[in-house]
Amino acid sequence: MQRMPLVDTLGRTLRSLRVSVTDRCNLRCEYCMPEDEYVWLSRDDLLHFEEISRLVDVFAGLGVDKIRLTGGEPLLRRNLCQLVEMLAGKPLADLALTTNAILLEEFAGPLRRAGLRRVNISLDTLRPDRFFALTRQQDHARVMRGIHAAARVFDGTKLDAVIMRGVNDDELEALLDFAASIGAEVRFIEYMDVGGATRWSSETVVPRAEMLERMQARFGAVVPVHEPGSTAPAGRFVLPDGRVFGVIASTTAPFCRDCDRARITADGVFFTCLYARHGLALRPALRRGDPAGAIAEAITEQWRGRRDRGAEERAEVGNRTAYVPLAALRADPHLEMHKRGG
Ligand code: SAM
Ligand code: SF4
Ligand code: SF4
Repeated sequence: MQRMPLVDTLGRTLRSLRVSVTDRCNLRCEYCMPEDEYVWLSRDDLLHFEEISRLVDVFAGLGVDKIRLTGGEPLLRRNLCQLVEMLAGKPLADLALTTNAILLEEFAGPLRRAGLRRVNISLDTLRPDRFFALTRQQDHARVMRGIHAAARVFDGTKLDAVIMRGVNDDELEALLDFAASIGAEVRFIEYMDVGGATRWSSETVVPRAEMLERMQARFGAVVPVHEPGSTAPAGRFVLPDGRVFGVIASTTAPFCRDCDRARITADGVFFTCLYARHGLALRPALRRGDPAGAIAEAITEQWRGRRDRGAEERAEVGNRTAYVPLAALRADPHLEMHKRGG
């Protein structure tokens, strides 16, 4: 039987789910977790793997066929490969993971064997000194070993770099070269003012237009790759030598009108936008043992009423500063990017 797609108020179909498996992280990236202290989720509140698996089944029943595991740093979640194995058995079009690669040297092989299909790896700099300045950890060499390990066992690896003016914006070409050298594709991400980015300023954003001009000046004509029907956030571009790269222009050219993504925090709160102020707590229903149909109904109602255009609305604000002030993040940690996953 043909399933009716689940569509929101702007005609956007729910297709993809990002599942945060922990809010903990072993880095402190300047654009995500720049503070000295955070309010952490209680371990008792984290969804168990069986609960995540049940939820994924419910979402799959509503039309979701792309799952991405994220965090915090997802590889910090103990026995993550067991969860991957549980999800790999489901009829999904994609099962991917986003990671900072610190622990990837050890886990790349086991994750692949457990059934993970793809990894996106965050890599903002090729310079160890900068890595330390950006993340407060000296682990750059580990990250690079993790990336090489992933490139050996996964196809379609993407390297994601948040580009910040005066921080790493002189590394576009080097990151492109490095990605090509390991058979990966690099995506340059505009610095976003998501919850948690308390040091965000518009001056630090490098707009997509400027990135493209710089690539053009260095390599020659930059041509957009035409991808009919794609709802992927990255616009992809090809250089005269055939190399392809992406730019995620969430700040200067948001793509909310095509957004098919929902998010679940590690403690089971369902958010319909990266910028949403409120979510729907699904853990109580899971722990009560509510039938799948009742949980599906709650999710359906939430998505049907969805009006989110978070990044587009932020782009309309003049004189922007950080979206969520620190005091508000402390009062409601679910507003943090590292709670709801990137
Ligand atoms: N810890 C993992 C990692 O870094 O890959 C997964 C979670 S992290 C929140 C997911 C993605 O969000 C990363 O690629 C990170 O670069 C991105 N991100 C975090 N804060 C951001 C910001 N302020 N602007 C743009 N991207 C951001
Ligand atoms: Fe950096 Fe990802 Fe950790 Fe945020 S969650 S601090 S982006 S590694
Ligand atoms: Fe989707 Fe919200 Fe991001 Fe817009 S801001 S693309 S609606 S998650």
